[in-house]
Amino acid sequence: MNSEIYTAQLPPGAYQIDDPFWAGKMETVRTQMIPYQWKALNDQVEGAAPSHCIKNFKIAAGMEEGKFEGRVFQDSDVAKWLEAVGYVLSWHKDEELERTADEVIRIIAAAQQPDGYLDTYYIINGLEKRWTNLMNDHELYCAGHMIEAGIAYYEGTGKRELLEVVIRLADCIDGTFGPEEGKLHAYPGHEIVEMALVRLYCLTKEERYLKLAKYFIDERGQEPLYFKQEREKYGNTYYWEDSLFQEQYFQAGKPVREQKEAEGHAVRAVYLYSGMASAAKETGDESLWEACTGLWDNVARKQMYITGAIGSSDYGEAFTFDYDLPNDTAYGETCASIGLIFWARRMLEMEPKREYADVMERALYNTCLSGMSLDGRKFFYVNPLEVNPEACRKDQLKKHVEYERQPWFECACCPPNLARLITSLGSYAVTVNESAMYLHLYVGGRMKNPVNDMVLRMESGLPWNGEVAVTVEECREESYDLALRMPGWADQASVCLNGEEESKFVEADGYIHFQREWKQGDVIKLSFDMPVRVNRANPSVKENIGKVAVSRGPLVYCLEEIDNGKELHRLSLCMDQEIEVLPGAAFEGSIELKGWGRRLSDEGWNGALYTSDVEEVYEEQRLIFVPYYMWNNRGAGEMTVWVGRK
Ligand code: ZN
Repeated sequence: MNSEIYTAQLPPGAYQIDDPFWAGKMETVRTQMIPYQWKALNDQVEGAAPSHCIKNFKIAAGMEEGKFEGRVFQDSDVAKWLEAVGYVLSWHKDEELERTADEVIRIIAAAQQPDGYLDTYYIINGLEKRWTNLMNDHELYCAGHMIEAGIAYYEGTGKRELLEVVIRLADCIDGTFGPEEGKLHAYPGHEIVEMALVRLYCLTKEERYLKLAKYFIDERGQEPLYFKQEREKYGNTYYWEDSLFQEQYFQAGKPVREQKEAEGHAVRAVYLYSGMASAAKETGDESLWEACTGLWDNVARKQMYITGAIGSSDYGEAFTFDYDLPNDTAYGETCASIGLIFWARRMLEMEPKREYADVMERALYNTCLSGMSLDGRKFFYVNPLEVNPEACRKDQLKKHVEYERQPWFECACCPPNLARLITSLGSYAVTVNESAMYLHLYVGGRMKNPVNDMVLRMESGLPWNGEVAVTVEECREESYDLALRMPGWADQASVCLNGEEESKFVEADGYIHFQREWKQGDVIKLSFDMPVRVNRANPSVKENIGKVAVSRGPLVYCLEEIDNGKELHRLSLCMDQEIEVLPGAAFEGSIELKGWGRRLSDEGWNGALYTSDVEEVYEEQRLIFVPYYMWNNRGAGEMTVWVGRK
């Protein structure tokens, strides 16, 4: 660990994104997704599962009569919505949206108990039972989300009401949990409060929030296991009663520093690892950082899909074991890839290494974007790499795989999570410290560095081309390091400084460093080559033997039935032919890839199911690949990322 190289995010509003690719998506989230989600939270979307979320808060606040409905973690949906609104308001003034948010914040504040407790499930069902089922009941999870919302809304608007609510809530939690006698020696069943408390510490500088976050992390998995005691005392049962994993589902089977492989529920896992990385950074805890890097290696090198999806099993929405990455039963929850991005950003803050940013970009451009339709109104929860609609309808083992995006979910964690990620994209693209500014993702916009007031303008052709320009608009006369990521998908880059080919830069850990005294008007131009890559999987991934996946730049591509016909498994890609890069015929402004391939025909089979005497006959076929994140925007049909090769 070397705190001198630590970096931090830009403050909210410091990065005004106007990127041709991303600004449209951010606007979609602002103008479509957020209003749509507001309706969903108020049960006003026809045909969608009712949320009951706002109603629960009104009942808890005594404004309405009724009983609690929805999942125990329903409160978190409005928290995520408010967090996203906070981010939006940092880059776009929207009075109506702000008024709506202020109104809901008043309801939330009214529901809060005098001691700071806030969880509508227990407020409505009986406060005497609170904190008795930490394993399953998500009180600390909802609290974590609300803390994130309180901070984001304060930073986006300067308004303190929700921040005061979450400070009282954090104080209530601090008074309840900890190593001291009389407090609960426990930790949450679903992590997130750890990273939220570190963030609250960073904002308020109140040490006790950092201490509490660290306590939750250090206590997890210590003997005697808390959830075991809780089960014995209160009769709580596992949600996944007959599972192979028990405490491991919650990453609580052993202390976090002894965990070498990612295990259990994937979203819980990456939220925990994000909290661990945040806490390691703020406390300088070496062994915690080592645990983070060990777990990172396991996830990124052995348990991650090429699309940046993680958590391969529907059962428990969980990690299974190394190289177990089935395509058609894949789970790959959208939230898990979002959590992977949270974690990657925190790893980058401590150690600017390209690998973290590459994974962040992979998860962002593929699984996260796949999680929503191009119009921002329908969503995937599960992100498979191979789909056959009939199999999803008729095979119990694939029933979790939707072959069309859904308007909403009874468990609606993913859509609002996407909203908060996309609306805060600027905080993932760039981090800074006293001596350097790291450009991790290439997202066009204008950014102001709070360290030295340097203003940069970024232009980027990503993800369609690798042309990037960074112009210094304002700066002081002093030497400063601008570090630009050399993405893993580019073999090489041509680098120009003020129109001249530049070779005097240092490349370290995948970043091109320009250390110099900058002048207004200086321009760095990078031109990354963006070859079509035909990727193979490690031979231990049994599903992908003999198959390849095509990618270009940050985008993974797929085949869809609408372009390539039914039974995609009959197709194979000719490896000795060039793959053409063409303007997208299906999606304006996109790039599609056209390869030569062949299709195994029925000729000679005569309807036999098995035979030993048939010559396989192939028909030549052009294969059209579209970006994976765009699949299922033209109706239902088969899809595959991995295709046979010849
Ligand atoms: Zn989710």
